[in-house]
Amino acid sequence: MTNACPPAAAAHAHSAEAAAVVAFWRDLGLPGLVDIHTHFMPPNVLAKVWAFFEGGHAGVGRAWPIAYRLPEEERVALLRAFGVRRFSALLYPHKPGMAAWLNSWASGFAARTPDALHSATFFAEPGAGAYVAEAIGAGARLFKAHLQVGAYDPRDETLDAVWGALTEARVPVVVHCGSGPAPGPFTGPGPISAVLARHPRLTLIVAHLGAPEYGEFLDLAERYPRVHLDTTMAFTGFMEHLAPFPAALRPRLAAAGGRILLGSDFPNIPYPYLDQLEALARLDLGAAWLRAVCHDNAVRLVGL
Ligand SMILES: [Zn+2]
Repeated sequence: MTNACPPAAAAHAHSAEAAAVVAFWRDLGLPGLVDIHTHFMPPNVLAKVWAFFEGGHAGVGRAWPIAYRLPEEERVALLRAFGVRRFSALLYPHKPGMAAWLNSWASGFAARTPDALHSATFFAEPGAGAYVAEAIGAGARLFKAHLQVGAYDPRDETLDAVWGALTEARVPVVVHCGSGPAPGPFTGPGPISAVLARHPRLTLIVAHLGAPEYGEFLDLAERYPRVHLDTTMAFTGFMEHLAPFPAALRPRLAAAGGRILLGSDFPNIPYPYLDQLEALARLDLGAAWLRAVCHDNAVRLVGL
């Protein structure tokens, strides 16, 4: 665990890991990585998220030590050392009245971190349509919605203007809509499918590849051309233990390769960053698939 190491030892471990991550993308002939699913939040909010995972509240029945429990500047520096050319700053509220404040923090973070995608969020509450439109106007290029943590219904009428605005602006939204690692009242393919039926051109990025409902969320990607999936935690030893990816779905994963995006959940992961990359390589879907997933698809979707 990083936070148990003396600082010098931790720095050494990180520089060795950075060299291995850089070797991974260089071997593929890429100029670096784009990671669509990383988290940056106000320090007091992030501290609560870390306490939640480390306190055993994630509902996974096993330890979840935070591998990159570092000050913000060091976390940004580490992503740069890994060669991550663009990363997101996903944040999300767990209650009403919080999203607009998170968005103003995220706007400041984006202003001081030019390689971070300006990210924003919302909650099912009156006024959501207005502050989402405001965030888009202020330059937000990616949104995050967490249906498990927020425990709201994505079909809520207060969100209709939100989905409409995101669709019109073609701004992607990463939605944690799968039932892993623990289900919520509105997780699973049903509720978000109803949103897509009303807004079929929404650029939706299904977080965690939809775990554990991998097949149902691949169905959505096959049905709606603007539905993508991020790889966050999928195929790693940690996730395979919780929600194994069925080998029978691999051909569909290969076929959907143009709409699968590297995501890692950095820094809130209980294992090294490299694990995610090695897990993708182990799928054995070829170098072209890896190049698309680890870089090119995201560049096409959100730019550089
Ligand atoms: Zn996440």
